Amino acid sequence: RPLLQAIGITKRYGNFLANDAVDLDLYPRTIHALLGENGAGKSTLVKIIYGLIEPTAGELRWMGQPMVLAGPSDARTRGIDMVFQHFSLFDNLTVAENIALGLDGSESFAAMSARLAQVSRDYGLPLDPKREVWRLSVGERQRIEIVRMLMQNPKLLILDEPTAVLTPQEADQLFVVLERLKEEGRAILYISHKLEEVKRLCDSATILRGGKKVATCDPRQETAAS
Ligand code: ADP
Ligand code: ADP
Repeated sequence: RPLLQAIGITKRYGNFLANDAVDLDLYPRTIHALLGENGAGKSTLVKIIYGLIEPTAGELRWMGQPMVLAGPSDARTRGIDMVFQHFSLFDNLTVAENIALGLDGSESFAAMSARLAQVSRDYGLPLDPKREVWRLSVGERQRIEIVRMLMQNPKLLILDEPTAVLTPQEADQLFVVLERLKEEGRAILYISHKLEEVKRLCDSATILRGGKKVATCDPRQETAAS
């Protein structure tokens, strides 16, 4: 059974159709790619799934039930979390301070720091919690966002072109983490325009063009199935 279903999602900006009746099913233990050229409507669709914008028409279902998201914090509460292409980190704060700001603030800084160290160790994503962000490379900044996301224990993880800012070695490390998250039973929505990496990593794919879904396919086979 799908964890998340998007059914007939349509988004208009004025007269412009950014998403045109798009259907998407995301399953547990699956890495699903969202492929398409710039302007195809990928960001619009994931912003709807993350509660950042409302669809003009269509509906989301979460574990079979209709879901209306009040905003990103509502999405996170349900178990949907996202790493953006452009991070919202504060340069003059430390790694741990940035993560504390990204969480809901319901635990002490000490408890948060202990969880941070544990998640970072468990997934092999080393972070120095006391380091100020301005000292870090862009790959290390993304690692902060990923650790923050994992600390929320999400059921559905959305990554927007994560390898755009990574070296090939860092990308390989990320793929190992994503495979592990999949084995843990989570659903991953992986936005990309790099067919090679999608073929390597993803179990299924949706291709958008001009706001419309043009295909759903198994990226490991080369032919589109529907
Ligand atoms: P992608 O992520 O695939 O590059 P987007 O979803 O960001 O595509 O954008 C799809 C189309 O919608 C683009 O042509 C973009 O210019 C347009 N668009 C996105 N956001 C807005 C907005 N807030 N107002 C008007 N047009 C927008
Ligand atoms: P694009 O993928 O089209 O370049 P971004 O990923 O930069 O767009 O996101 C653009 C929109 O998403 C903006 O409206 C911004 O407010 C919102 N946004 C970006 N990052 C975050 C975040 N970490 N939390 C909440 N909203 C965000």
